[in-house]
Amino acid sequence: MNTKKVALVTGAGAGIGKAIALRLARDGYDLAVNDLKAPEETTAEVRALGVDCLAVAADVSDENQVHAMYQQIQEHYGRLDVLVNNAGICPIRTMEMVSVRNMINTYNINVVSMFLNAKEAVAIMKNQPWGGRIINACSQSGFRETPVTFEYTTTKWSIRGMTQAMSQALARYHITVNAYCPGTILTPMQDRIAQQTAKIMNVPVEAVREYQKKSQPLGRFQPVEEIADMVAFLASDEASGINGQDILCNGGQVMN
Ligand code: NAD
Repeated sequence: MNTKKVALVTGAGAGIGKAIALRLARDGYDLAVNDLKAPEETTAEVRALGVDCLAVAADVSDENQVHAMYQQIQEHYGRLDVLVNNAGICPIRTMEMVSVRNMINTYNINVVSMFLNAKEAVAIMKNQPWGGRIINACSQSGFRETPVTFEYTTTKWSIRGMTQAMSQALARYHITVNAYCPGTILTPMQDRIAQQTAKIMNVPVEAVREYQKKSQPLGRFQPVEEIADMVAFLASDEASGINGQDILCNGGQVMN
């Protein structure tokens, strides 16, 4: 078995997931990094920090692919200490635009994927006397609705509920489950959100960005590293007593 702690970050090919992988590598974890395609750039940057990194291509909403990913992790490391359920999508559609197929697809990728990954992670973690940490990507959209992200908002509210339910189910195995809830972080996802929102609202992209910037109490957008800091804290020994919480790390845009 690996002597160092091991963390899996899903959706680690870009944005927040990549920043989390790099931060956990700096904290000394060996990593498994996942994305739809093997995240080669993240893998190279993680390895350059002197830790081991296993790259796994898998669609986190596909049960067979997820099972195969955990088999690889088990074979390579023989342990898993931290699962960061980070992968997610944010389609831009009003309620009237959303089809049943859209709704099911977004739930599969944003919510069912976290359940699938948690089931596999728990099968490893529950045999570890020290348990483990499951950390789910939620959002401030899990606290308030925006007009053009109907499916996304409902999935993020679900993730808050699932985080609480999992925390109760898994505490007996010394596995804690928490969620991080970012605000507006300038990642490839936010670029797509700004472009598609501008199209739906029939305004220039710059107007969307200006509105987003004005909504920041700190007067600035947050870098991905501030979200990685929160995840690193939730993974750390200092957070051992935090369980079942959804923690807003959004510069104060939305309050709980
Ligand atoms: P992003 O789109 O920039 O990056 C997400 C990564 O996940 C991509 O590399 C993508 O390929 C991967 N991914 C998507 N579907 C996948 C699947 N089915 N299987 C495996 N990988 C998949 O997104 P981001 O902005 O970095 O967001 C990361 C997480 O943080 C998401 O869950 C998102 O909802 C949440 N979040 C982001 C923001 C923000 O402002 N950026 C705010 C709140 C919450």
